[in-house]
Amino acid sequence: MSRTVYVNGEYLPEEEAKVSVFDRGFLFADGVYEVTSVLGGKLIDFAGHAKRLKRSLDELQMANPVTEEELLEIHRQLVARNGIEEGLVYLQITRGAADRDFAFPKDATPTIVLFTQAKPGLADSPMAKTGMKVISIEDQRWGRRDIKTVQLLYPSMGKMMAKAAGCDDAWMVEDGAVTEGTSNNAYIVKGKTIVTRHLGTEILHGITRAAVLRFAREAQMTVEERPFTVDEAKAADEAFITSASAFVMPVVEIDGQAIGAGAPGPVTARLREIYLDEMRKAAV
Ligand code: PMP
Repeated sequence: MSRTVYVNGEYLPEEEAKVSVFDRGFLFADGVYEVTSVLGGKLIDFAGHAKRLKRSLDELQMANPVTEEELLEIHRQLVARNGIEEGLVYLQITRGAADRDFAFPKDATPTIVLFTQAKPGLADSPMAKTGMKVISIEDQRWGRRDIKTVQLLYPSMGKMMAKAAGCDDAWMVEDGAVTEGTSNNAYIVKGKTIVTRHLGTEILHGITRAAVLRFAREAQMTVEERPFTVDEAKAADEAFITSASAFVMPVVEIDGQAIGAGAPGPVTARLREIYLDEMRKAAV
């Protein structure tokens, strides 16, 4: 069945949705995106995603074609029109179509595209029970990873390197420390302390990260926001990742070595439970 997607003010069957070949998203990866989860037909942390979208656009001096209220309405329309109970809403805004030139065009109209992906069972993923295996790879991305751009080729290559090694994902390493996963933030747990890289231009400021760290602190857990190494991860009691679509997901192996007991640990399980409970309650 064909989805209904949103392109520049119109709701269209996906086959009829079109973007120019001169779009700067296509030619220069000159675009930003957000992915918001849907649980029980409602949006998880929409406000967080809308806020980061604004920041990404501002950092690139890109115009925002919609207000936050309009954006919420488009998200809700797509969820309803596509009958999404569990899944994702993908949003992309680019600088628009203009004759090819490295300089930003002055008068281009931004392109805005949204579509849904149905993911039945999203919150009940089998991987939450078995855990993920990761490899470490060098972080070869650009230096402004705090801007959520559609330049995703290196993360995509990293995912393929992980698959080739029989693993689920790759943790990227720069100057000896883990930055993040290909599409998620990375954490280790040692004793009662949760360690995750501090915010900066080296990582994406995960919306899930912000919520999970808030819940962890509210539950009296200790959080250290600092760089950690792969060796530290190997010696940790638990490890996990967070993202809007995976929520909190255990990591049980890195570079072939089991972490802790080699099975999802109690801190990770508790954080996943709190996150899902609280975010479902606050969903819009
Ligand atoms: N880091 C990277 C590189 C990502 O691509 C993502 C997911 N988009 C995240 C972290 C997690 O961010 P969020 O929790 O906002 O999905």
